[in-house]
Amino acid sequence: MVVILEKNISSEQVDKIIHTLESYGFQVHKSVGVEKTILGAIGVQPDFDTRKVKILDGVADVYRVTTPYKLTSRNFHEENSLIKIKDVEIGGNQIALIAGPCSIENEDQIFRLAKIVADSGAKILRGGAFKPRTSPYSFQGLGEEGLKLIRAAADEFNLLVITEVMQIDHIDLIGKYTDIFQVGARNMQNFALIKELGKVDKPVMLKRGIAATIEEWLMSAEYILSNGNRKVLLCERGIRTFETYTRNTFDLSAIPVVHKKSHLPVIADPSHATGIRDQVPPMARAAIAAGADGIMIEIHDDPENALSDGPQALLPNTFLKLVDELKLIAQAIGRKI
Ligand code: PEP
Ligand code: MN
Repeated sequence: MVVILEKNISSEQVDKIIHTLESYGFQVHKSVGVEKTILGAIGVQPDFDTRKVKILDGVADVYRVTTPYKLTSRNFHEENSLIKIKDVEIGGNQIALIAGPCSIENEDQIFRLAKIVADSGAKILRGGAFKPRTSPYSFQGLGEEGLKLIRAAADEFNLLVITEVMQIDHIDLIGKYTDIFQVGARNMQNFALIKELGKVDKPVMLKRGIAATIEEWLMSAEYILSNGNRKVLLCERGIRTFETYTRNTFDLSAIPVVHKKSHLPVIADPSHATGIRDQVPPMARAAIAAGADGIMIEIHDDPENALSDGPQALLPNTFLKLVDELKLIAQAIGRKI
């Protein structure tokens, strides 16, 4: 931690600040410049609240140089983490393709769409059985019936399943059917839930909260890792800004930022990020170019009658064409889809 002191501070005040820092367990190094005195405080604990120093008399500014997350940080694990799920590996050269409907609606629908997902070469089928809907009057998902359907459809086409878990008492139930747990944007800081997911032996894809900073997102990942589960995927799905032409603002810069800060794979979700069908392909292409380790896309063959998120679902043909384009982009940056 670097502590910049105010100009014209008395030496008694400097000593007092040093003494306080030492009482917090820091080793302090002082450098006196012509204009300013700067203190280097070594030994900051991950949970240290820098505001305790910011409020001291005579302190102008405080900068943290170490991150508050440890296991999530690239300093802890220099190589990219590879998350292996059956015969699929995420985080390496191969880019993971995840696709499927927003919600599992009925047997016919999920089987038809699973076939398209398999035809595209994707290995992971998405679909929600427990849906976090803004309105309590909207379709809430088929529950366990939906889980059974998505598992059967995935097995039929040799796909893995990813589906959302919203509450602790559903973890065991959903765990019986899914290969990857999805934590939705609205639950990124549901600490009770993510702590429990730290105790399961299945990968967790943690979506970025709608108003979460990258640091908050990585701190949530830290909850899962520090509770024992090292199989965490991060998912950028757009954040809330003042812009209204898109459902959210797709923060593509989060991809290289997270890659620098963390060893965890980053999946991009251009469907929820934009919310409008014709904006999905360009942003999917951009996400691959930006280095995403995977891409998750919502599809539907009858979007007008979809029970959720129809307007952002790609039609099967558009999706298949997009996958061909994504393959070319991946190849251009030395990766594979
Ligand atoms: C979803 O993937 O269907 C979903 C609800 O996503 P998010 O949590 O990003 O809104
Ligand atoms: Mn959706």
